[in-house]
Amino acid sequence: MGWLIPRLLAGVLSVVVGALAGIVVGSVSHWPALGALIGAAIGALLHGFVDAWRGHRFMDWLRRQQEGPAPRDAGFWGEVGYRVERSVRALERRVDAEHAHLDQFLSAIEASPNGVMLLDASDQIEWCNSVAADHFGLDPLRDRRQRITNLVRSPVFVTYLQSGDYDEAVNITGPGSGGTVAVLIRPYGAGMKLVLSQDITERERNDAMRRDFVANVSHEIRTPLTVLAGFIETMGSLPLTEAERRRVLELMSQQTVRMQTLVGDLLTLAQLEGSPRPPADRWVPVHRLFAQVRSDAEALSSGRHALRFSGADAAQIAGAEAELLSALANLVNNAVRYTPSGGSVDVSWTLRSDGAGEIEVRDSGIGIAREHLPRLTERFYRVDGSRSRDTGGTGLGLSIVKHVAQRHGGELEVRSEPGKGSSFKLIFPAARVRGAEPGGDARRTVQSADRIDAA
Ligand code: ADP
Repeated sequence: MGWLIPRLLAGVLSVVVGALAGIVVGSVSHWPALGALIGAAIGALLHGFVDAWRGHRFMDWLRRQQEGPAPRDAGFWGEVGYRVERSVRALERRVDAEHAHLDQFLSAIEASPNGVMLLDASDQIEWCNSVAADHFGLDPLRDRRQRITNLVRSPVFVTYLQSGDYDEAVNITGPGSGGTVAVLIRPYGAGMKLVLSQDITERERNDAMRRDFVANVSHEIRTPLTVLAGFIETMGSLPLTEAERRRVLELMSQQTVRMQTLVGDLLTLAQLEGSPRPPADRWVPVHRLFAQVRSDAEALSSGRHALRFSGADAAQIAGAEAELLSALANLVNNAVRYTPSGGSVDVSWTLRSDGAGEIEVRDSGIGIAREHLPRLTERFYRVDGSRSRDTGGTGLGLSIVKHVAQRHGGELEVRSEPGKGSSFKLIFPAARVRGAEPGGDARRTVQSADRIDAA
């Protein structure tokens, strides 16, 4: 009510001032009462006009969406303008804060690794994050307000959406990614739906790999077991001569060794996958690895190949000796097994100019066709299954080598040409490589490697 009294007073004051002015003017023409009346009327009119003008300015400000400050008038309209402007600004601040909250909320959903899509009661897209857009092959802006079933044609998805039974998720082939996408719908509000999606291509691949792995292991173990069972039955039911008995026992022993090797390789793989990375401060001399592998290789070759080990000198690799030995033994073992008699196997160490070190196992053997190279390190992948088995292979050797290389921060590089031989390089990063004496060794090692290449 603070505005009412001044407003009334201003009105009365205008009338009184008008009347007084009218009396003064009216006295001149001897009509002071008439003058007072006309003056009071003019005063009231002027007051009304000013009031209407202020009201008009205020309405104009309201019409212009309250742009800028409200008209700064005194009195009633000033008070109204001030109060309306204050509530409008407070409302704007609240709306801004709500917008910021909504933006934050949407960016959180946007950052989700899973797809999130909101559908209204007519299955039109209200909003979706970019992951969902990618899963369903949509454009998050262009496709807004479009009916989802017009855009995603997968029959599995359409049936699921229309069934109303959303207890379980369904898998669809993502129209965008081409992978497998798991979709789960959660109804909310008045007929609205929250569609959650997740790319499970990797999980499916891992599941398939695990299934394949179990099938492969079972197959690999069943074969020698069947052979052993056959021999045991033969020995139990048939009278065998001493020579036959010895032959059967020898074959049984071969199958047992095969199973032992397989189980050994499986355990090695399991250990490599489950144990922490090898230490970066335990230094293994390369010449010691070479010496240990050499005696096994010579026994396996029985003089059929020219075996050369060179260049190790004082070089050292930081890591787990047993793992490095297992990797190198696998490579050298393969080189001997896949190189016909009279061929050569060269094992060498080279320190690269960037400080990295490599162990190369090069053979002059049967080689490998280009199309097999990318798959060689897959478990149980063999180019020639029977040759691998006949020579005691498990199909796990290169898988082990790759794991060991990766665990030491390195990699396995393979080059091969059918009929010309193969080169397998275990490359270790500079941080895991050193000579016995700092400085001079590196040069010496490179020179000796050059000698090997020249030889
Ligand atoms: P395996 O136990 O069968 O030798 P690996 O994993 O060690 O299994 O090797 C996978 C396949 O790669 C082998 O079956 C063989 O076909 C091929 N391979 C590996 N090393 C050589 C090599 N030095 N020369 C030719 N082929 C090789």
